[in-house]
Amino acid sequence: MVPVGEEQRIWDLVWPDVDGVVVDGVEVVEDAVRIDVHAGQRATVCPACGMEASRVHSTYRRRLADRPIGGRRVVLRLMVRRFFCDNSACKRRTVAEQVEHLTTPYRRRTPAVARMVQAIGLAVGGRAGARLANYLPLRASRDVILREVRRLPDPPSGQVTVLGIDEFAFRRGATYGTVLI
Ligand SMILES: [Zn+2]
Repeated sequence: MVPVGEEQRIWDLVWPDVDGVVVDGVEVVEDAVRIDVHAGQRATVCPACGMEASRVHSTYRRRLADRPIGGRRVVLRLMVRRFFCDNSACKRRTVAEQVEHLTTPYRRRTPAVARMVQAIGLAVGGRAGARLANYLPLRASRDVILREVRRLPDPPSGQVTVLGIDEFAFRRGATYGTVLI
C-alpha cells in the first residue's frame, strides 16, 4: 500500500515533464498497475479558435497505456473534461482537454510509450518486436509496432548525387511503375 501523498511524489518522479496532473489512486490488478489521474488545469484552449474554454460540458475516463513499472504494464485512467467553446464566432462547439506530454488526440498510448514501441520496431522489426514487448511487458502486437514506426517522419534525404531510374511491375504484364533510386 502506498501512503497517501506518496503517490503524487512517485508520479512527479516517473513523469517529471507532465505538469498539473493529480493522482487520485493507484491499484495493482494482476499484471497491471492502474493509475487514476485527472488534470488540475482550470481550462483548456480551443484548437480551432485559440480561445480559452472553461465551461465544463461533460467528463469521461480515457485509458492510456504507459511505460511499464516494476515488471507490470501501466494503464493510466485519465478523467478528461470536455469544455464548451463559448466563442460564438467559432464553428467548434466542444473541446476535450489534452494534457501536454501525456495525451495526443485519439491516441491510446502516451508519447513516452509510443517512443518505446517505435524504438523496438526500428531495432528488431515487428514480429520479434511483439515478442520483446510482451517480455517488458508492453501490449504491442506486430501491427501496432509497424503502425507506430510508420508515424515517424521520414529521415532527411540530403543532397542527391547519384540517381537511378528503374521500372517495376505492380502486376506483371499489366501495370508498371517507375522507381527513382
Ligand atoms: Zn473555439
